[in-house]
Amino acid sequence: MEHFELCIVGAGVVGLALAERFARTRPRSYSILLLERNHSFGQETSSRNSEVIHAGLYYTPGSLKARLCVEGRHLLYQYCQQHDIPYRRTGKYLVARQDELQGLERVFDTAAKNGVDDLQWVSRRTLREQEPLVEASHALFSPSTGIVDSHGFMDSLLTSAQRAGVQYAPLTKTIAIQARNGYFDVQTECGAPGHIEPFTFRCRHLINAAGLHAQELAMRVEGLDKVFVPPLYLSRGCYFSLTGKPPFRHLIYPVPEQNQRGLGIHATLDLAGQIRFGPDVEYIDSIDYRVPEDRRALFVEAIRRYFPSLRADQLHPDYAGIRPKLCGPDGGVADFMVQDEGVHGVPGLVQLFGIESPGLTASLALARLVADDGALQA
Ligand SMILES: Cc1cc2nc3c(=O)[nH]c(=O)nc-3n(C[C@H](O)[C@H](O)[C@H](O)COP(=O)(O)OP(=O)(O)OC[C@H]3O[C@@H](n4cnc5c(N)ncnc54)[C@H](O)[C@@H]3O)c2cc1C
Repeated sequence: MEHFELCIVGAGVVGLALAERFARTRPRSYSILLLERNHSFGQETSSRNSEVIHAGLYYTPGSLKARLCVEGRHLLYQYCQQHDIPYRRTGKYLVARQDELQGLERVFDTAAKNGVDDLQWVSRRTLREQEPLVEASHALFSPSTGIVDSHGFMDSLLTSAQRAGVQYAPLTKTIAIQARNGYFDVQTECGAPGHIEPFTFRCRHLINAAGLHAQELAMRVEGLDKVFVPPLYLSRGCYFSLTGKPPFRHLIYPVPEQNQRGLGIHATLDLAGQIRFGPDVEYIDSIDYRVPEDRRALFVEAIRRYFPSLRADQLHPDYAGIRPKLCGPDGGVADFMVQDEGVHGVPGLVQLFGIESPGLTASLALARLVADDGALQA
């Protein structure tokens, strides 16, 4: 049976960042296998998001989300510069009506506690000069928010990881894991439908970075007490694209929803300057990426609060992503969950749950946390 030091299940942005970090910080003899069930990396949540490099304005101070977002943002800008990944520090305006001022003040306080020191109050006049079509009484400007070509970023992580010796296996679905004493036997199914073959191997360490499927995979780990597998709630976020000349030059965000279920339907720019609005929040029972046409009215109402001249026929259903939430619609806010032996008692196993936003921004910091500070020391 083939043997690896480390197996990472899932080649989304987090699994890729982990593969790159482990490969770079371990000797060449430390063999790493990266498994992906789809034909290519990053086909799920990692390619169904806003591609925003978040500054770290919203997350509960002291939480992993807050710490890893701020650290990850610095690492991500640095990585993009060093590896020629397309990105832009667009900056973002957070805008509020008179009755929402308290919401903006809360964001300002939280951001300060999270170590974001460049968030600024801007006058109505400045906002009007910068974004004449935005209607708001109060605004904050975040200069360190930006956008990134997430596919280019993931592609670069994979190339770097492979150069450093990582073996990458797409079309390889992990179906069962037996935790033995100090190692794992892993069963997979490889190949495209119609040509599937079993492949079994052994590894000393295993990281579950399976995103929306992390809980399903954890349930297949024989030897893991299932009380450690948290519940999963699927929260779909749809996007509508805007036709016509882009009306904004910056990202425009409303005041976040009080319950922190989402950041509010905002305007994001892609690197070509096109505008997309989203994501909304809708809890669903199974993975379904359709964008229901009937969400349009809700979008129009939410967007017109800060962009009154929007016409409903300018919006077109675009795509959707699904947040792997650990709390249901009424259940509050959960942090990223990183479980190692200290939590579940299985040596060599790390499981990542609830890696929703700002997981793209935080990915390099998350990889650093697991590879440098975690339980998988060489
Ligand atoms: C609507 C939306 C908007 C967002 N916007 C932003 C944003 O602007 N900025 C930001 O920082 N973050 C954002 N995020 C969060 C970010 O996209 C995620 O945190 C991040 O992509 C998670 O990456 P991942 O690698 O954990 O998961 P995924 O991308 O889901 O990757 C998991 C991988 O595991 C594979 N896999 C699963 N099961 C198996 C198995 N059994 N065997 C082999 N492979 C398997 C899957 O095929 C998949 O490729 C957003 C998320 C959503 C939903």
